[in-house]
This record gives sequence, structure tokens and C-alpha cells, in this order.
Amino acid sequence: MAPRKLAAGNWKMNGTQAALAEIDQLLAALPAPGCDVLICPPATLIHSMAARAKTAIAVGGQDCHAKPSGAHTGDIAAAQLKDAGASHVILGHSERRTDHHETDAQVQAKAQAAHAAGLIAVICIGETEAQRDAGQTLDLIASQLAGSVPEGATAQNTVIAYEPVWAIGTGRTPTNDQIAEVHALMRDRLAARFGDGADMALLYGGSVKPGNAAEIFAIPHVNGALVGGASLKAADFGPIVAAL
Ligand code: PGA
Repeated sequence: MAPRKLAAGNWKMNGTQAALAEIDQLLAALPAPGCDVLICPPATLIHSMAARAKTAIAVGGQDCHAKPSGAHTGDIAAAQLKDAGASHVILGHSERRTDHHETDAQVQAKAQAAHAAGLIAVICIGETEAQRDAGQTLDLIASQLAGSVPEGATAQNTVIAYEPVWAIGTGRTPTNDQIAEVHALMRDRLAARFGDGADMALLYGGSVKPGNAAEIFAIPHVNGALVGGASLKAADFGPIVAAL
């Protein structure tokens, strides 16, 4: 079965209640998209965004704790995201890996917690510019994939996002061949490990915009995008959704 296409927006630490007007505009602009549409706002907006978006747009968190509950001040459990109206959660974003020193093992444990709570885990991996320059990209992607994706991952509960760290928020993107090479590797490794469950959606992320989305979506094994800056405005995200 071909993977389901997904256009995912990551609002990062942007947006207050006033930003929900963008959801109304996006809903008005979406021409019955041929893909799933997901927005991951700050946790404070999940409940109101989910109420506003109804079923047309899925809503997700940007991180969860590996434990189901307990003394973890400032953290949020997968079941709490679900309770607030989330269906997905981004895990292992490079900003979490850098700012909070998250390791593959921690990302894997969080993904297990997400699955246990009935959330779809959007697991992010990607190389730094130094790693690409050193010719380590494919080895690193294979090892992050093996270390971050838990047993029990299926096409129904897991999405993988390839996000080169150097392409995030920089306006720079890899060449189409570079994206194709990484996505083919991910598809192969997932098929080798999970067999029939390997048809998980594979997203590309990093400086996706209305102007480059169609070209990126035409690359083999690219099943959608994880979009940061260009997901904040319906005027930008709408055309990206339409291109998928
Ligand atoms: P960007 O971010 O689209 O702003 O480059 C992508 C991401 O961090 O998911």
C-alpha cells in the first residue's frame, strides 16, 4: 500500500490564541486536500486548535515525555497531548536534540510512550552540515533511524521526517538527488527491519516553501513535508498542501 501523504506544520514556539485565525483561513483555503494535513502548535494551543479544526486538520504536540505521568516539572505526557485533542507528536526534532541533548534512545522511548497513548509519532532525523561535509550522512541517517524508531512502529503509528539540520530555517535545501538518496536509504532500511509495516510516510523537512514544494514532492519516496516557518501563515501553507 502506498504511504499516506502528509503535509505537517511545526509552529515551534510561535503563536498565541490570536494565531488561531490562521487555522480558519487555512480551512477556508483547503480544497479538499488529497493528503492529511497536520499542525503542531505550542501545547497551549492544542485544545483550542483541535476544537477549531474539527476533523479537517489534525493537531499534534512537539514533544512528549517517555513516562506516562509523574514528577517531571514542565514536561508533558503523551496521554495529556491526546486528551487535549492531539493525534500526532513530533519527536526528536533537531532543536530538541540540540537544545535538550536528546539522544536516539530517548527519542525511541518517547515514541514508545506516544504509541502506548495512541498517538502517531513523527520521528525526526537529519545530519548537520559538518556531518554531510565529512561524508557521514548515510551512515548517520541509518544509525539515527535504527536508534530512534521503536519496535512496534507501523505505517499507522509512525511517520519519519528527514530534516537536514543545516536546511532548517536557513532557506537552503539539499539537491533533489541528495534528498532522493536519503529517502531511498530510509525506505530500504525500514523495509529490511519492519517488512510489511515499512510503508510509513517519509517526510522531507527544511526550508520547504510554496516555491519549492512541488519539486520536492516529486522526488521518489518523498510522501510529504514537515514545514516550520512556512506553516505559520495560511497564505504559505495552503499552497504547500495543495502541491502535495
Ligand atoms: P523550516 O523548519 O521549514 O522553517 O526550515 C522545518 C522544521 O524545523 O521542521
